[in-house]
Amino acid sequence: MKIGIVGCAGRMGQMLVREVLQTPGAHLAGGTERPGTDAVGRDIGELVGFGKLGIAVSASAAEMFQHVDAVIDFTVPPASVEHAKIAASLGKVLIIGTTGMSEAQSRQVEEQAQKARIVMAPNMSVGVTLAAALVEQVARVLDDMYDIEIVEMHHRHKVDAPSGTALGLGRAAAMGRGVSLDQVACKSRDGQTGVRPRGEIGFATLRGGDVVGDHTVIFAAEGERFEITHKASSRQIFAKGAVRAALWCKGRRHGLYSMKDVLGL
Ligand code: NAD
Repeated sequence: MKIGIVGCAGRMGQMLVREVLQTPGAHLAGGTERPGTDAVGRDIGELVGFGKLGIAVSASAAEMFQHVDAVIDFTVPPASVEHAKIAASLGKVLIIGTTGMSEAQSRQVEEQAQKARIVMAPNMSVGVTLAAALVEQVARVLDDMYDIEIVEMHHRHKVDAPSGTALGLGRAAAMGRGVSLDQVACKSRDGQTGVRPRGEIGFATLRGGDVVGDHTVIFAAEGERFEITHKASSRQIFAKGAVRAALWCKGRRHGLYSMKDVLGL
C-alpha cells in the first residue's frame, strides 16, 4: 500500500514516516507540510534521520493524494477536514489522528466518509482501544453509585484539553451507562462547586514535561475504587496503530471507522 503522510515534519508526522518505512506491506510514497515552512522541498528521509529517499516534502496535499492509496493525518482540525474532502473526491483511504475537532468539524469528516474509507480515532494505540472497550463493559455493570472520574496527563506542548483520548474514554463510559456524555460531563471544577451530582462523569487535566499520555478511569464507590489505567511511554504506539489502520482499510467499503473496528472489537 502506497502511503503519504500529511504534516510529515510534526512530532507524530516524523514518527509516522519512520513507521511506514519499517512496516512490511507499507510503502512511503509522499509527505506534505504547510506551505512556507522550512520542511517543504527537503528530502523526507533526511528530515526524519533515515538518509536520502529521493522524495521531496510537498506543500500540496491535493497533488500527493493523487499518487498514494492512503494518507495518514496527524495535523490540525481545519487541515484534517480539508484532507477528508480531498480523500472523498478521489475515493482514497484517510487515517485521521488529529484531536480537538469541533462537533461541526467531526460532522464534516463523517459526511466525506460516504465517498472514502476514513478511520478516525483520538487515540490510535491498541492498548487504549482495549482500555476503552473495558471501560464500557465495566460502566455497563456498575451503576451510578460508582462515581466515574477520568484523570489524564500530557506533555506541556499539548494545546487541547481534556485530551481526545480522555473524552473518548468518557464516551465509552457514558455508552456503557446508556447516557450521553454531553449531558453528564464535568470538564473542570473550581471554587464552590456544591456536592458531586450523581451520574456525573468528571475530568481532570494535568500538563507538564514530556509525558506522552497517561489516562486513568476511576470508578469510586463507598468502600471500593476500581481503576483502569493506560500509560504510553512512546509515541510510536500511535504511529503503529495508524499504519495498522491504513493497511486494514484495503478492500473495505467506504465509511467512517474507529480503532475498535480495526481491532475487530
Ligand atoms: P505537531 O504540531 O508536532 O505536528 C503537526 C504538524 O502538522 C506540524 O508539522 C504542522 O506544520 C503540520 N500541519 C498543520 N497544518 C498543515 C497542513 N494544512 N498541511 C500539512 N501539514 C500541516 O503536533 P503533534 O504532536 O504531531 O500532534 C498532531 C495532532 O495529532 C494533534 O491533534 C495531537 O493531539 C494528535 N495526536 C493524536 C494521537 C492519536 O493517537 N490519535 C496521538 C498523538 C497525537
